[in-house]
Amino acid sequence: MSAPVHVVVVYQSLLGIYGDQGNAKVLQRRLEWRGIDCRVSFVEPGDHLPDDAQVYLLGGGEDGAQVAAVRALAADGGLHRAVDRGAAVLAVCAGYQIVGRSFTVGHDDRVVDGLGLLDVSTTRAETRAVGEILTRWEGRDGDDAWLTGFENHGGHTVLGPDASPLARVVHGVGNCGDGTEGAVAGSVIGTYPHGPVLVRNPALADHLLQLGTGLDLEPLEVPGMAELRAERLAAVRG
Ligand code: GLN
Repeated sequence: MSAPVHVVVVYQSLLGIYGDQGNAKVLQRRLEWRGIDCRVSFVEPGDHLPDDAQVYLLGGGEDGAQVAAVRALAADGGLHRAVDRGAAVLAVCAGYQIVGRSFTVGHDDRVVDGLGLLDVSTTRAETRAVGEILTRWEGRDGDDAWLTGFENHGGHTVLGPDASPLARVVHGVGNCGDGTEGAVAGSVIGTYPHGPVLVRNPALADHLLQLGTGLDLEPLEVPGMAELRAERLAAVRG
């Protein structure tokens, strides 16, 4: 029997205020429904971040917590080693800003270095983006390409040449009002929506699992999922 797929939830105590740890549950259930074992670890600052997992999840958080998280992750180095090995990362909101090159905090716009895993930089936006967001996933067709979630951020994120947008905004703000949402480089994905985003968008969950494990996952029919997706789409379209 092969080893379980290992999913690491990074720093819940700092990056846990938006319920993004639900993303780990979705990954675990979608593997288990296919008969694949999954182990979820919760790693806190001060713990050594294992660098041998397949998927790493970072969630949203407040500015102060975000600074503590980026410092601890930079000092640990485990996330960089994991990405170098080809592990997949899903970084949401504060997590997205952390994996970028830099972000600013406070009213004096202090610049904080990010981890540099994604070529994006974040500064303070003029107005906070709060509300439902609807996007189309780049390079995808069909119903799975609709991504929905809830955004709540004061960050204005600009992509550099080494990152590609995850999606195009149909409703909401996304990165910086330029019509793009999130960023992708290799196996690292950054995105603003909570929801949690993988609960609302199971195709993105499977994509992340495939990125991290290299497994060819069979399609999965989950009762009620199509109806729930249709409900969310109708709600955001108004
Ligand atoms: N503190 C960041 C911002 O407001 C991230 C917020 C969040 O994670 N929702 O931009």
